[in-house]
Amino acid sequence: LSAGCSMADMASLDKVEQAWQELSAVLNPDESITPITYINSAANLKAFCGKHGGIVCTSSNAKKVLEWAFSQREKVLFFPDQHLGRNTGYAMGIPLEQMAVWDFDKPNGGLTKQQIEAAKIILWDGFCSVHQQFQPEHIDQYRANYPEGKVISHPEAPFEVCQKSDAVGSTEFIIQTVKESPVGSRWLIGTEINLVDRLAKQSKAEGKFVHYMAPVVCMCSTMYRIDPQHLLWVLENLVAGKVINQIKVNPQDAEQARLALEQMLVVSG
Ligand code: SF4
Repeated sequence: LSAGCSMADMASLDKVEQAWQELSAVLNPDESITPITYINSAANLKAFCGKHGGIVCTSSNAKKVLEWAFSQREKVLFFPDQHLGRNTGYAMGIPLEQMAVWDFDKPNGGLTKQQIEAAKIILWDGFCSVHQQFQPEHIDQYRANYPEGKVISHPEAPFEVCQKSDAVGSTEFIIQTVKESPVGSRWLIGTEINLVDRLAKQSKAEGKFVHYMAPVVCMCSTMYRIDPQHLLWVLENLVAGKVINQIKVNPQDAEQARLALEQMLVVSG
């Protein structure tokens, strides 16, 4: 039960409700702001979005979700991952000057009234520690060694890294792009090490070369708690009719979270 996502833990319902209340000193958030939560977030945050006319997104559908959000209200509060919000918003043509980072440890997110009014996207100050380690210098070094090589990054990576990449997209997009590339292709990939490792092994057999972006590996300790042994243990118990570590969401949260999730399914088609 201790498996999880340290990025998701950077946004709690208390802090998000506090932000909503502080924003209400500047504008009416339920009229002006669509809350969007990344799928890596607690159920009660999905419920918060459902309750406040918001939506859930994944890295695959973030653009469509942002487009829908702006068709509803003029601004977006995007949590918990600032990078996905920034990279997606920028790719849609929203300049960085119209994005503000909400520091959840400071009163009013550390923002002035003017900054809140000027922002189209208010980005929660959360991040994935695995993707945050990738740096533009890693790309420079790779390009110096392999001028013909291509670079692909996940949108949870920092803005400067995504800007230097040849392509940016979800895990599925990364897998597809490498799969469809010609024999002899070389890729530097900025995402989680296990995926890159698997892709490197498969690609090698197809005559392609895949490199991990960072020189040091920062494992995701919370995700690593999901391992084959425990998965097998849970499945064997299920077969025997026993539910291990059942997660229960209170009915009201479940209903409101479902609204935000169903909205995402409608928007992403
Ligand atoms: S790598 Fe770990 S911290 Fe980052 S998004 Fe995945 S589960 Fe969360």
